[in-house]
Amino acid sequence: MNFSSKVLEEAVQALSLLPGVGKKSALRLALHLVQDNNNKSEKIAEALTRLAHDVKECSVCHNLSDHDTCEICTNSSRPQRQLCVVESVRDVMAIEDTQQFNGRYHVLGGVISPLEGVGPSDIHIDTLIERVKMGTVEEIIMAISPTIEGETTIYYISKMLASFEVKISIIARGVSFGGDLEYADELTLGRSITSRIPYQSPS
Ligand SMILES: [Zn+2]
Repeated sequence: MNFSSKVLEEAVQALSLLPGVGKKSALRLALHLVQDNNNKSEKIAEALTRLAHDVKECSVCHNLSDHDTCEICTNSSRPQRQLCVVESVRDVMAIEDTQQFNGRYHVLGGVISPLEGVGPSDIHIDTLIERVKMGTVEEIIMAISPTIEGETTIYYISKMLASFEVKISIIARGVSFGGDLEYADELTLGRSITSRIPYQSPS
């Protein structure tokens, strides 16, 4: 690509750093922004700067928050006895949308995947165990997609929690969701949480 403007070229390069945005799409976006009269570039730049600096990980559950502790963890009307364990922040959003769960969350930030070099210590299992040790948690609801990695993760966590008096449930498998929780429709995901079943370890 031959650019008449170095600034435009840099903007295109920056935009194409985003996943799924190729050079051509980046150019289209950059030209759109150059020709726009509504200060879109400034608004986007400001939002992205704040995103980079002001979004934090909740120190309790690892959800994203503007504060040290997220709004779910500080909400006293949400009982601490139920903890829903999910893979990602997007799963929290999907489950919140169903309005079928009123407890708290724990975001693992991934699943155990030996093939991709992700071990138990690479995800937030240690802080989950710490939360259970505090004694307020009565039920752990595993809302993790039933992939091999997901099953491995649930199995590992269940072993780690075996000596604690905590009930472990998994969301219902009878209903199909396309792999990732976020792709399940609200009704299906909501039902799979309310009709959760006790976890039975394969061995
Ligand atoms: Zn939190």
